[in-house]
Amino acid sequence: MASSTRDRSKMLLNGQLASDRTYTVLDIEVDNQCGLNHILSQTACSSTRVSDVTLYRYEDVPNFLRGNPYIKKGYRAYLPASQCFSSLFLWSNETINIWSHLLGCIIFFVAMCVENMARFLQTSPTSQTSQLTDHIYLTTGLLCYQTCMILSAGYHIFYCHSEKASKRWLAMDLTGISIGLIGCYLPAVHLAFYCHQVWRDLYILVVCCLAAVTLGLQFHPRYFTNSWNTTRMVLYSCVAGYGVMPALHWIYLSGGVHAEVVQFFYAKIIVVYLLLILALFFYATKFPECMFPGRVDYIGSSHQWWHLIVVIAFLYWHIAGKDMLEYRMRVPCHS
Ligand SMILES: [Zn+2]
Repeated sequence: MASSTRDRSKMLLNGQLASDRTYTVLDIEVDNQCGLNHILSQTACSSTRVSDVTLYRYEDVPNFLRGNPYIKKGYRAYLPASQCFSSLFLWSNETINIWSHLLGCIIFFVAMCVENMARFLQTSPTSQTSQLTDHIYLTTGLLCYQTCMILSAGYHIFYCHSEKASKRWLAMDLTGISIGLIGCYLPAVHLAFYCHQVWRDLYILVVCCLAAVTLGLQFHPRYFTNSWNTTRMVLYSCVAGYGVMPALHWIYLSGGVHAEVVQFFYAKIIVVYLLLILALFFYATKFPECMFPGRVDYIGSSHQWWHLIVVIAFLYWHIAGKDMLEYRMRVPCHS
């Protein structure tokens, strides 16, 4: 009897909910139901206690939760929103994904508060205007990183609620990636082209256009389907890779690779790109779980590495920006 109910639930979950259905970001129908959770667990549907959450194996979850076949267990499924939230304190295969970006958000928030306080206490009325602009760019970068982190954490907290919720939060997560990339570009372009204002404004305009294109593509009906996974990854890689062009132009305008400012900053650009390539390597190859299926379900999986390296890259890039600003204050533009 029990096994026939289980078979029926599997049939319903896998049959009714195809994960490759088309969806646009405007499909924001609110789903307050408990989904089909009553099929999976009668108690969990009505309870908000984290101890009532059942964790499932890969074979037992619906298609929309089956993103990575090498992660074998520890899945939450069809939790009501309140229980999604309380599962923050449950050891599942999403715990590190959630907390890595929640803590990342807190780190960037604290950095923003500390730096704004330092700026507020600092009194230098003579160069107030230019320094305020620099400060606004660095703060905007930190706000973008916080947005990226909180949307990503939101996705990992709530996507197990229902298929609709997973699509809606995936849209938020991808929006966060676009915003995070803008946060990398804006302060960097501002500080690199500090002495070439026309180029600076032009590149900032290009960055805004790139952001508009990536966000606009979310309205494509197939954008959130699994078949577009590679397309999405290529798109974000291109947006990140685009930065090489203004970087080369900046080296040329600054007087070549031997110029002092280039010597000061180019190694930092290389380091941040190496970090992003490493993060993408984990994301794309699903290493190490592809080599050890089921062995790194809770700790050490590729997505956790991806999250951790993204936080490190953002933090490194922010510190590099502050170093560059310090250099600009020390060595003013000549002509
Ligand atoms: Zn993630």
